[in-house]
Amino acid sequence: MRKGQRCSDETKRKISDAMMGNRNQEKHRSKETREKISRGLKGRTLSEEHIRKSAESRRGQMPWNKGRKMSGEYRKNVSDSKKGPKNPNYGKKTWMFGKHHSIESRKLISDASRGENHPNWLGGKSFEPYGVEFNEELRKLVRKRDNHQCQICGIHREKPQIALNVHHIDYCKTNNSIDNLVSLCGSCHTKTNVNRDEWSVHFKEIMAFLPLSHREGCEIRNDVLRCVDQIVSALEEV
Ligand SMILES: [Zn+2]
Repeated sequence: MRKGQRCSDETKRKISDAMMGNRNQEKHRSKETREKISRGLKGRTLSEEHIRKSAESRRGQMPWNKGRKMSGEYRKNVSDSKKGPKNPNYGKKTWMFGKHHSIESRKLISDASRGENHPNWLGGKSFEPYGVEFNEELRKLVRKRDNHQCQICGIHREKPQIALNVHHIDYCKTNNSIDNLVSLCGSCHTKTNVNRDEWSVHFKEIMAFLPLSHREGCEIRNDVLRCVDQIVSALEEV
């Protein structure tokens, strides 16, 4: 066919049928043929140029599994196909296999990333005490406002079967205004230990869009908290 020439519907169908035939052939290759192909491909290394070209040709294309939901049965089959002796790492021994660190060695490893040596060390902030008003009653109120759902992943407390963490949006443990508190699951709470500024902005935006009924509740609650603050400071002065 010449360049620019249009093909009839019948020709298109024929081409399509021929291609489908090829695909079916692939599926019905004998075990021997498949093993031969596998042996031929084993140990083959692709050049950097090949990898780059291959990636470029696929750029902008939608991944084949995007938006597809795999059935429970399909997922179970995939999982089973990688279990036990079918797993490529089955029976392989890592360098630490059968060895144990001595107690002394374990202590050295632990101390190496403790406190000031830890990459996420923020000057001992985590040892600062929470304000007295950060009690179970307040935490319950925050969780109820957030419908017992993690405000990052949306998981409901029924799934992990554990009460959600209550996170301080501005990372200030003594700022226990309800506007500064948000419910998170344990996993998402860990995520907020990095990129703190970005998370603060993110949650402040969420708070700004809370339904009015919740905002009004917050205002009443904040007044109560301010009273508690005054009482506590008055008692401390006595
Ligand atoms: Zn979560």
